[in-house]
Amino acid sequence: MSTEKIIYSCHGAAREVTGSCHLLRCGDRHVLIDCGLFQGGREQERANFEPFGFDPASIDVLLLTHAHLDHCGRIPKLIREGFHGRILATAATRDLARVVMLDAAGLQEEDARRAQRSGRRRDEAYSEPLYTLDDALHAMDYFADPVAYDMDVPVIDGVRARFQDAGHILGSASILVTIEQGAQPLRILFSGDLGNPGRPILRNPVPAPEANYVVMETTYGDRPHRALPDSVDELYRAIQQTLARGGNVIIPTFALERAQEVLYYLHRGIQGGQVPAHTPVFMDSPMAISATEIFRRHAECFDDDFRKELEQSDPFAMPNLHFCRDTAESMAINHIESGAIILAGSGMCTGGRVLHHLKNNLWRQRSSVVFVGYAANGSLARRIVDGAKSVRIFHEEINVNAQIWTINGFSAHADQSALLDWLGNTSRKRVLLVHGEYERGMRAMETCLEKLGFACQIPQAQEAVVLAESITELT
Ligand code: ZN
Repeated sequence: MSTEKIIYSCHGAAREVTGSCHLLRCGDRHVLIDCGLFQGGREQERANFEPFGFDPASIDVLLLTHAHLDHCGRIPKLIREGFHGRILATAATRDLARVVMLDAAGLQEEDARRAQRSGRRRDEAYSEPLYTLDDALHAMDYFADPVAYDMDVPVIDGVRARFQDAGHILGSASILVTIEQGAQPLRILFSGDLGNPGRPILRNPVPAPEANYVVMETTYGDRPHRALPDSVDELYRAIQQTLARGGNVIIPTFALERAQEVLYYLHRGIQGGQVPAHTPVFMDSPMAISATEIFRRHAECFDDDFRKELEQSDPFAMPNLHFCRDTAESMAINHIESGAIILAGSGMCTGGRVLHHLKNNLWRQRSSVVFVGYAANGSLARRIVDGAKSVRIFHEEINVNAQIWTINGFSAHADQSALLDWLGNTSRKRVLLVHGEYERGMRAMETCLEKLGFACQIPQAQEAVVLAESITELT
């Protein structure tokens, strides 16, 4: 009969939103859940170069909830530093993670080259990329056969996992980890990022099953979202008003899910007459284009309505839609002064082609920038959303004269009531709150949950939380 302690520690997304990385230790068996990149400003980027706080070589298996960069973006670093276990993920997550990690590696190589050329960042950590394209490709070798939803899969001796649809992005999952310890197993549920119910394309999140502990995201733990139909109307209004006054509509877009959702609503808007039929729409993001192709291959992740639509027609098609893979195609958009809708990444404007479009349009009163996603602290998107009068882009001070729209109903994250609904009433065990801003999402969710009788804890980064001292404690 084993009396090994089971210990949880958070190595990313502790009291912050990005960098998700959770470690479960049960004696010498070590399981990691997610291994994401810190994103936002300089300080967050710097954190990616820091040690993990555990030995990557000691990890047996990595369970990946979904393919967003802040959940998979440090995997190549993990491997570079000694991880040699397996990675378990759904098929769609594996395919998307490949695109996401390659894109991140490309950006990091570019950043490092720029830093070396300019000597601007006199910081040694930045003169080498966090990892290279080769590292990202190599990471794909560690993915085991894809995991299906709702099946118990063996992880390592005495540990199994069940992936349940989290309804957040294509392939996303919450993961229930069961550790066999004597007569009484210990169940720890990792929410991953949870989606909002009722969105198009994906199914709703599967409610939380019984567990002794729930490690839960709290991105929007403090607020409700606007209803989705209102947000779609607002998007159409933003487009109509901007086109009427002769400007461009810039939509900084997350390449996974949001880009496809926005395309889908533009397609519907054109069909319904809310968007002029021949408006040129540019999808200026190689990653979003690849992700859209991957979408088409994973019908197993779609809800019934979307699957039916897909059988009848192409739900992303538009008469004047341009996919811009090449830099030259992207640069050609710079000459368009009015009448275009431009979707480009990154969603938080921390890099990528959207910066060029912001530079060309932010100063123009006739244009508008429509934010349809989360803007983390320290990001350019957050500064613009918070009302900055001018911002610095490519070493140039650009006035913010364009109309700024923030439409939060498109969020791929559950709002406060959706989080509570997901958790349900069945589990009254301890909830560990992660992946949120401490003063906002986390504290608000803590208050809500304590009123409902849950015991809550907000772990600090690297803090060891003992989940079980011995089997006697669990019974
Ligand atoms: Zn996510």
